[in-house]
Amino acid sequence: MNYHIDTGLIYEKFKEDCECPLCAIQKIVQEQFLHEFLNDAVMEDNTRVKVGKKGFCAKHFDMLFKRPNKLSVALQIGTRAEKIAPLLGKVKSAGAAKKRAKEIQVATSDCVICDFIEESMTKYYKTIAQMFAHERNFYKILLSSKGFCLNHYAKLLEYSSFAGFMTKDYLSVLSLMQEKNFTRVQTEIKDFCDSHDYRNAYKPLGNAENALPHARIKFYGEKQE
Ligand SMILES: [Zn+2]
Ligand SMILES: [Zn+2]
Repeated sequence: MNYHIDTGLIYEKFKEDCECPLCAIQKIVQEQFLHEFLNDAVMEDNTRVKVGKKGFCAKHFDMLFKRPNKLSVALQIGTRAEKIAPLLGKVKSAGAAKKRAKEIQVATSDCVICDFIEESMTKYYKTIAQMFAHERNFYKILLSSKGFCLNHYAKLLEYSSFAGFMTKDYLSVLSLMQEKNFTRVQTEIKDFCDSHDYRNAYKPLGNAENALPHARIKFYGEKQE
């Protein structure tokens, strides 16, 4: 089977005890791109062109800025500034202003690192579906996982057809795990709320203690920083 990406990291993260193994993978993918953008990639013309065209979102600018190679960030943001500057020229009418406003909004909503991450993550979504169909014990690993954050669950559904002849089975395991673990988080939230009732003051919190951190990941994914 020719997979879209190496399966090693998938096995590693799916075996870990976490609310979304894809968030854990995405963190690693993101770190690789941040590293590249602060080192080798900055020297490549091809990358400089892409940076000029799209720039960075605020989150990724901050993440680059937090790391040691500030000159690299400055060179890249300088390249981007050259592309943005012409958008700031004189505007002569309300109609033109509306058009310009749209152009500026589009120009500030792109991010070359977000794009690279999404491109790379899509290979993971496809490969996971293929592994379900072709790797003998992968379904067991999936069945022992704790489901996914909503965004990554949606992505796995979107690319489920890559499981080919096993797509129906794949979808039934995916939804089973997601439902089961979402219900668990709902129970944790309820237990947490109940624990604030004075009548339960002396009851141990149990899993409810992690209700909100778990809900954070299930709803929004793991913080990618
Ligand atoms: Zn996730
Ligand atoms: Zn970004």
